[in-house]
Amino acid sequence: YPSDKVQAAGAAVRIRRLEKRFQSVIAVDGVDIDVSAGEFLALLGPSGSGKTTILMSVAGFEFPTSGSISVGTEDLTYVPANKRNLGMVFQNYTLFPHMSVLDNVAFPLKMRGVPKAERYARAEEALATVRLAGYGSRHPNQLSGGQQQRVALARAIVYRPRVLLMDEPLSALDKNLREEMQLEIKRLHAELGITVIFVTHDQSEALTMADRVAVLKDGRIQQIGPSRELYERPANLFTAGFIGEMNFINVTAEGSGGNISVLLPSGERWQLPASAAVEPLTGCQKAVLAVRPERLQLGDAHNGFTFRVKVDDVVYAGSASLLIGTLPDSTEIRARLPGASDLSALALGSTAVFTIPKEAILLYPGAAQ
Ligand code: ATP
Repeated sequence: YPSDKVQAAGAAVRIRRLEKRFQSVIAVDGVDIDVSAGEFLALLGPSGSGKTTILMSVAGFEFPTSGSISVGTEDLTYVPANKRNLGMVFQNYTLFPHMSVLDNVAFPLKMRGVPKAERYARAEEALATVRLAGYGSRHPNQLSGGQQQRVALARAIVYRPRVLLMDEPLSALDKNLREEMQLEIKRLHAELGITVIFVTHDQSEALTMADRVAVLKDGRIQQIGPSRELYERPANLFTAGFIGEMNFINVTAEGSGGNISVLLPSGERWQLPASAAVEPLTGCQKAVLAVRPERLQLGDAHNGFTFRVKVDDVVYAGSASLLIGTLPDSTEIRARLPGASDLSALALGSTAVFTIPKEAILLYPGAAQ
């Protein structure tokens, strides 16, 4: 990097058996996460799954009930927030309204006793990094929401933290601005080489931005891995339903290992490939067959299992069309068809034949609601 750029080398973050209780509520229930130096990790989960509590524990605004947190080689578990030197950006970016943009960005340096000339020079650099060079003399109320969020980012990176913690930083922005800022934060991450932990409940935001995503539910990690792995092979039924769209068909599974067949509600029996069972199945049990809407093929494609769907609705949306239909037992099925598909045979109320390619099938023990 050019030497006059704001830059910081990322540090690894290690979270070990983290547990946090608030009276009777277990907010975080034994979480282990290793974030590599320079990695971008998203914490994703529904409301109340413990994302913010984990982040606040890393930041030092919450102290865990048990477990440990280290950054680099330092154990920070009980170190106060202001001694951790981590960057933070929250949804409500709380810039000081009475200070200029430059003073806002320079503020953390002032707190750290950096001489005036140096802190202004570094604040200017940080503003340039977030593409706001020349905005230093404005006041926050003279900036758009996205610009204010960039100032908050500049303020978080100005003292070159090794780790940047972000809690739903974009959720107050409208869709277009949010997507622009997602790319902007990704760029900044790549440019600075800093470690980022990013909390979101928006799965597409997590998949777009992060190197790896940790999916949480009830204070526990359900799965942690690269976006593609989470999408293509969700580790359990919860992740399968939480990430992207998924069709679920309740079946009875028989057999084990590489020899599993399923009995469908229609009475048909399918012999599944060994790859289908994500979690081990034993004997005869209730199971759920899962398949992504974009993997369904219209017609008999001769490369998988065919089945019939009653057509309830077809929504044309340009690049793709969405078909919503039902199986005989009234299980809802959704299929995303390429934009150029011939939809003329899909009259409402008619029956359509679909193929599920064998390799697109995933099977989980349990039952879908
Ligand atoms: P959201 O997306 O809604 O912010 P989250 O995944 O970040 O949710 P947390 O805020 O970490 O979840 O909360 C996890 C659980 O801990 C919730 O049940 C919450 O009600 C509880 N909790 C969090 N903070 C406190 C607190 N200070 N006192 C009591 N309970 C708390």
